[in-house]
Amino acid sequence: MDTIVALVIAAIIGTFFLRGYLKSLKKQEAKARESAAKGALFSEGPKSQHPHIDTAWCIGCGGCTSVCPEGDVLAMIGGKAAIVNGHKCIGHGLCAEACPVGAIAMVLASPSMAADMPRLTPEYETSVEDLFIIGELGGLALIKNAVNQGRECVDTIAGRLAGNGTAKATPGVFDLLIIGAGPAGISASLRAIEHKLNYITLERDEIGGTVAKYPRQKLVMTSPVEFPMYGKFKKTELSKENLLAFWDMVLNRADFNVRTEEKVEDIKKGSDGVFTVASANNQYRARAVILALGRTGTPRKLGVKGEELPKVMYRLIEADHYINKQILVVGGGDSAVEAAMGLAYQVGNKVTLSYRQPAFARIKERNAKRIEDSIKKEKINVLFNSNPVEFTETSVVLEVSGARQEIPNDFVWIFAGGTPPNDFLKKIGVGFGMHDMAVDAGKEAKQAADEKKQLAEARASASG
Ligand SMILES: Cc1cc2nc3c(=O)[nH]c(=O)nc-3n(C[C@H](O)[C@H](O)[C@H](O)COP(=O)(O)OP(=O)(O)OC[C@H]3O[C@@H](n4cnc5c(N)ncnc54)[C@H](O)[C@@H]3O)c2cc1C
Repeated sequence: MDTIVALVIAAIIGTFFLRGYLKSLKKQEAKARESAAKGALFSEGPKSQHPHIDTAWCIGCGGCTSVCPEGDVLAMIGGKAAIVNGHKCIGHGLCAEACPVGAIAMVLASPSMAADMPRLTPEYETSVEDLFIIGELGGLALIKNAVNQGRECVDTIAGRLAGNGTAKATPGVFDLLIIGAGPAGISASLRAIEHKLNYITLERDEIGGTVAKYPRQKLVMTSPVEFPMYGKFKKTELSKENLLAFWDMVLNRADFNVRTEEKVEDIKKGSDGVFTVASANNQYRARAVILALGRTGTPRKLGVKGEELPKVMYRLIEADHYINKQILVVGGGDSAVEAAMGLAYQVGNKVTLSYRQPAFARIKERNAKRIEDSIKKEKINVLFNSNPVEFTETSVVLEVSGARQEIPNDFVWIFAGGTPPNDFLKKIGVGFGMHDMAVDAGKEAKQAADEKKQLAEARASASG
């Protein structure tokens, strides 16, 4: 009798846990369908770096779906991990680290998607020998990736110089010339000092690159990274000002040979293999050149009437300089949302955010929650399905779901991305297209086919 009672109790407990498990699976699947539907609406699939899932190895534990700081890049579909919002991936790589069976690898976009990206070898060399590209210009975003590539690329160059006996200084010729002093260029410069190379860094603007242009007090998220001349940098969350102060400290300690306000306009390679790098006023000669230009380039314009007015801007650093103003922010990415919220919480501002899509899809989870909250509190007026038509001195005209609306206005900020320096790269002979010349065509084709299949399955699941 005791045994039967024990068995019944065990069965009840077992059923209880099984029901809970099945319920959580159902919930997970519903969430995945919702994410897949959003992804299908806003993206044709990954455009740049992203996780590649080998479904034959995936054991369906779901660990990879919960670690991404960008939110729902991955979801569980039919018991396997799938990319549902590949366009949101910016290369953290935490999903690959979290996978217990190594079924995820970080890869670059398939060739058709990467047609507008420079072609690079695994050593970051372009189609021009001894001309390298690192950081965001090569297609991989994030500070940690820029720092890692800067370090690795200079190691390759130092090895080559030592190997062919040209490490000794030649009068008038640098061993290495680095263009750009953002995270990638800074890291490369510091590594060049470590290798005792005769190098110079040219920067058209100020030191710090895109980071120096973040809004004031922006919270910068990064991963632990090995910084040349410093060692392991362990902080994962810090303000823009603290990050720039850290770089300042490192750069002051080292013999940092940089020239700012020196925009590079042309690069030519002579028959002796030496590069001549020209800015407006100077010429430099170097055996190897690293391009660390970033992809921000020049801000993209909308071509809207009145866009040339001085009240129309493309970058916001000091939100607190604007109070009691009528403001329009245009765009739907993180930069637009962060700027709109920064301005909306200043005294007396009335902020309208205009976005051409029906919902935000490419923003970080943290920003999505904050903007939702700000809309509820009526701190900000968001107009989806809208496009600016005209800017005047005192107003802006918008087309909202097909109807015209004129609202009073003092300032406009446009965040429509940047035009990457592709024309410059083409002019100096850099080839575009398939990313990794060392990867065989079969592997690339399989990757593209797998991703297409996964996207189709995610879409079918979302609509089913
Ligand atoms: C709003 C925003 C928020 C972000 N937040 C984060 C975050 O929290 N965490 C994170 O890891 N990443 C973040 N990123 C991404 C990160 O900033 C970039 O991936 C990183 O800065 C890329 O570094 P880089 O050195 O390749 O390029 P950049 O930082 O863009 O530096 C390129 C440098 O090259 C210079 N240059 C360009 N052309 C020339 C020329 N012809 N001659 C001389 N110099 C030239 C530029 O002036 C610039 O200083 C964010 C990006 C943006 C836009």
